[in-house]
Amino acid sequence: MKIAVAKEIEVSERRVALVPDVVARLVKQGLEVCVESGAGERAFFSDVAYEAAGATVISDPSKLWREADIVLKVNPPQERDDGQREIDFLREGSVLIAFLNPLGNPELMQDLAERKVTAFSMELIPRTSRAQSMDALSSQAGVAGYQAALIAAAALPKFFPMLTTAAGTIPPAKVFVLGAGVAGLQAIATARRLGAVVEAFDIRPAVKEEVQSLGAKFVEVPLEEDTVAAGGYAKEVSEAAKQKTQAVIAEHIKLSDAVITTAQVPGRKAPLLVTEEMVAQMKPGSVIVDLAAEQGGNCACTEAGKDVVRQGVTIIGPMNLPSDLPVHASQMYAKNLTTLVQHLLKEQALQLDFDDDITNSACVTHAGTVRNQRVRDALAAVQAQVV
Ligand code: NAD
Repeated sequence: MKIAVAKEIEVSERRVALVPDVVARLVKQGLEVCVESGAGERAFFSDVAYEAAGATVISDPSKLWREADIVLKVNPPQERDDGQREIDFLREGSVLIAFLNPLGNPELMQDLAERKVTAFSMELIPRTSRAQSMDALSSQAGVAGYQAALIAAAALPKFFPMLTTAAGTIPPAKVFVLGAGVAGLQAIATARRLGAVVEAFDIRPAVKEEVQSLGAKFVEVPLEEDTVAAGGYAKEVSEAAKQKTQAVIAEHIKLSDAVITTAQVPGRKAPLLVTEEMVAQMKPGSVIVDLAAEQGGNCACTEAGKDVVRQGVTIIGPMNLPSDLPVHASQMYAKNLTTLVQHLLKEQALQLDFDDDITNSACVTHAGTVRNQRVRDALAAVQAQVV
């Protein structure tokens, strides 16, 4: 069984799919690992380190992809600078595992199916306890939450911690985190470690204890309706509930120095929680870091990938934050990937059991078909637009 680690060609991507420590473990188990030359460079893992771990370093990407049984990547296959498409390197019957963005790019899923590639999308790993060690969305969201707190602290023209100095006493910054899922909880923990006073709001009341255990105050908005869908995820709430939560959020935002937003409902555009009026009521110099920027933003003023200033308030819409911490983000992603690979192998041969929830959920294409109904619907919608 030959596993290939391809180099990321997306310019803004610094992560790599496997790190040398993880490669060494796979090699020890009898798997052959090939790494594209320079794949780990931007995450500070050299070719020499991969070779020392037992991998073969290959310079020719087409050879690497064509000879592999399983290709591991961070991002979906792309077109290279020389015009060659990575997808064309994939051999029929091979396996590709990456963040494939299947709902955002259903045509690529169709192409993979036509090439008879078995593709697993890391976004589709179920968020269950059994799949926890393969849950790359969570591992990477944790990195993003940490980074978001650091970005807020660096952009705020004030200290985060309380300081008692000969030059006077500085009060701690007030941070408000909206959405206390994986990224939100890590943002809370990081802001607390930096000494800020932290409040958090989430539509799911069940997270109250987790928020409090991190030393933050949970802002409660009693709602009459059920806000939790199957699997424990948030669901979209009614207009009345939105208005009620917005009124409470507005009161807390007015008093905050930094706001970090991470609210999302799976499969939907990010909920709009911070309106332009709320931004206008914040103190000049305040900061909003909107982690949902790529999904449309939780703040009305957010522009993905940009910092914008509205009435003295800086609104930051960062993209791909895990890439800013490529060493640990890659290490965690590598662990997620290898746990999935091991889940799919029996005695070093691929054995797909579609009765298994993890395999069934994450496998987007197999044996010439797009297996996932939502992806098929997205594809039909794209094709209808073209006609
Ligand atoms: P998650 O599902 O674990 O958490 C989202 C939280 O939002 C949930 O706790 C949910 O209950 C809450 N929520 C939903 N609707 C809400 C509402 N109306 N009001 C308040 N809370 C609400 O998701 P996550 O993995 O923590 O990711 C959070 C966001 O960060 C997502 O938008 C994700 O795409 C984004 N993200 C961004 C980057 C980046 O680099 N910019 C990286 C990773 C994740």
